[in-house]
Amino acid sequence: MHYHYVIAGAGLSGLTIAERIASELNEKVLVVEKRSHIGGNVYDSYNEEGILIHNYGPHIFHTNDEGVYRYLSRFTKWNDFWHRVLSYVDGNLVPMPVSVETINRLYNLSLSCGEIEAFLSSRAIPMDEVKTSRDVALSKVGTDLYEKLFMNYTRKQWGVDPSELDTSVISRIPVRTNRDTRYFADRYQGMPKYGYTRMCENMIANPNIKLMLNTDFEEIRDEITYDYLIYTGPTDAYYHYKYGKMAYRSLNFVFETYDMESYQEAPVVNYPNDYDFTRITEFKKLTWQDHKKTTILKEYPCAEGEPYYPFPTKEYQEQFLKYREEMEKETNVYFLGRLAQYRYFNMDAVVRQALDLFEQKIRPANGKEG
Ligand code: FAD
Ligand code: UDP
Repeated sequence: MHYHYVIAGAGLSGLTIAERIASELNEKVLVVEKRSHIGGNVYDSYNEEGILIHNYGPHIFHTNDEGVYRYLSRFTKWNDFWHRVLSYVDGNLVPMPVSVETINRLYNLSLSCGEIEAFLSSRAIPMDEVKTSRDVALSKVGTDLYEKLFMNYTRKQWGVDPSELDTSVISRIPVRTNRDTRYFADRYQGMPKYGYTRMCENMIANPNIKLMLNTDFEEIRDEITYDYLIYTGPTDAYYHYKYGKMAYRSLNFVFETYDMESYQEAPVVNYPNDYDFTRITEFKKLTWQDHKKTTILKEYPCAEGEPYYPFPTKEYQEQFLKYREEMEKETNVYFLGRLAQYRYFNMDAVVRQALDLFEQKIRPANGKEG
C-alpha cells in the first residue's frame, strides 16, 4: 500500500502535523499509533469513579508562544488555571519554586522582597562556569536550600546526582525574589475545558486522517511505502539501535481514590526528602471537577518501562549525536517530538516544532502556497 504521508505516533507532535497536512494541504494522512488511544502522554480519561485523570502524569499547558496558544485554541476552550506546587520539607508545606514565602516559611522569617535578595546572594555560591544542574541550584540558592529542595528530589527523579545532569534540568525551575507563587510564569496557562483527549480528538476529526491504533510502526514498516514519513517515536528504535539503546527515565504511576472531597492543599505536592515517590497530584484540583471522592497519583521514577524523559546527561547527548547524523541524511523522513529529538520538550515546544516543520518543509515540498 502506498501513502503520501505517514505519521508514526499520535502524541501531540504527530497529531499537530497530521492536522496541518490534512486540513491545509487537503491530503490524506495515515497515523500509526502503538497504544490503544491517541494523545500520547497528554491522554486523559475518566476513571471508574467518573473522575478525570491524566493517565501519564499531571499536564499543565503553559506557553509564551502566542502562535501555539492560538493554534490549540481552535480545538479547545480553556479553563484559566494558574498551577501551584507545594513542597513538603522539614514538616512544612512550602511553595515551589523558591519565592519570598518559601524562605520565610522554611526559616521562620518575615523578610521583605529586598531582604530575600540579600538573603539569597549571601548564600549563593559564585561560580565561573555553571556546568551542571547542581551548579545551577548552588549558584542561585546555596547549599542549604539546594539540599532541602533540589538534591534528593532530583536524585529520586533521575537516579543520578544533579552534578551528572546538564543545566537544563534544574534550570526549568526559576528562583524568585518576589511573592509570585505560581509554578509557571508564562503568559498563557490553562487546562483544556473538556480535557486533553477531547482536544486531540478535535485535532484529528478531519476525514483525510486515517488512524491505525494498536499498531507499532515496525509491524507495518515493510508493508507500506510512502513519500514522506514523520516519525515521533524513539529514534534509536527507528534505526534498530545501531548505535546502542538510548536511556530514558520512566515512571510508575500509582492512582488511589479516596472517599473524601479534598486530599491535599495544592494540585501537586512534591516530596523531595521523604518516600520513594516524587510528587502527589490531586486531579480535581487541576480540573476543578465537582465530585464527592477524589483521585490522587503518586509518581515513582524508575529506569525500565515506557520512555518518558530523555536523559539530559553529556554522555547520552553525545550518543544521540550519532543518531542525529543519520537523521540529517534522510530526505523523506522527519523526526519530531520529545522521543524522536531526544529532548526534554514541553507540550508547547512540540506543537511549535510541528507547526514549523509544516510551514518550512512540508508545505513548500507540496508546492501549495500558504
Ligand atoms: P509523546 O506524547 O510521547 O507521543 C509519542 C507517541 O508515539 C506515543 O503515543 C507513543 O505510543 C507513540 N509511538 C512511539 N513509538 C511508536 C512506534 N514505533 N509506532 C507507533 N507509535 C509509536 N508538558 C507540559 O507542557 N506541561 C506539563 O505539565 C507536562 N507534564 C508532564 C508530565 C509527565 C509525567 C511527562 C512524562 C511529560 C510531561 N510534559 C508536560 C511533556 C509532554 O508530555 C510532552 O511535551 C508531549 O506529550 C510530547 O508529545 P510527543 O508527541 O512528542 O510525544
Ligand atoms: N526539581 C527539584 N525539586 C522540585 C521540583 C523539581 O529538584 O521540587 C528538579 C528535578 O530535577 C526535576 C526538574 O527540577 O526533574 C524539573 O522539574 P519539573 O517540575 O519541570 O519536572 P517535570 O514536571 O517535567 O517532571
